[in-house]
Amino acid sequence: MCVGGFMLGYGVPALVFTAILEAPAPTRTPAAPRFTDRVQQSLKGVVHVQCPNWQGSGFVVGPRLIVTARHCVEGVTSFLITTNDGHQVRATRAISDKAHDVAFVWIDDLTCVAEERGTLAHEVVLHPLPMGNIADCVLGQSVYVIGSPYGKINFNALSVGVISGVNRDWSECGDSYGWKVAFTVDSAGHPGNSGCPVFTTDGVVRGILVGGFSPVLISVMPCDLFVEDTNMIAGMFALDRYEHEKAAEPEVWSYGYVIESEDLGRVGHD
Ligand SMILES: [Zn+2]
Repeated sequence: MCVGGFMLGYGVPALVFTAILEAPAPTRTPAAPRFTDRVQQSLKGVVHVQCPNWQGSGFVVGPRLIVTARHCVEGVTSFLITTNDGHQVRATRAISDKAHDVAFVWIDDLTCVAEERGTLAHEVVLHPLPMGNIADCVLGQSVYVIGSPYGKINFNALSVGVISGVNRDWSECGDSYGWKVAFTVDSAGHPGNSGCPVFTTDGVVRGILVGGFSPVLISVMPCDLFVEDTNMIAGMFALDRYEHEKAAEPEVWSYGYVIESEDLGRVGHD
């Protein structure tokens, strides 16, 4: 019996191997982008955000514009942004959305400040990520998240999950941050993930990870809040710079602008 079992064990793979060789060539169809390729594309636009006493995550939405969580920028005037390929830029200006836990960091100087021995001075090229509405998504849709849990030691770590809740309203929880428009995902999130992008599997950012009830009940602010307003936000930074230069003041920048959020009606699922 032992011998028979031995032979059977080797005979089956040989038969399968023969069948594959003799099978007709399959009809070629366009290959769907592999998930791993999507992730590689997404990584280009995810950044680590270092402040004097805090570090978190963010992502690129314009050649000089970074999105992160509002609670990450409050009271901060110095940011060191690190891209996925290790280049670094410094920033000193942020605008926060007082109604929601969303903020924007503007990079005036794209000169790389990373220590890159043997290389010439250069400007960092940022790679904006595509954004879309959560209103176009459904409960249970797959998502992935890229950020820096527990800081740069876990730079641009990946986790996956699904949209686990929509149309959440936690405004009764007290601390506002616009909780009534949040949605949840069950992909793992930890301190340091704050500000990082939440993608659907088409590579589109649908929201900003801002907090969590637990490491797998994660609160996300939808991109719907500002997806059509990035040009306006860039204009606010330009106006801020103009007004400060006109006043001939030193490098003292303002914080805490209120961004009108009349687009809240777009968030929701019928
Ligand atoms: Zn560099």
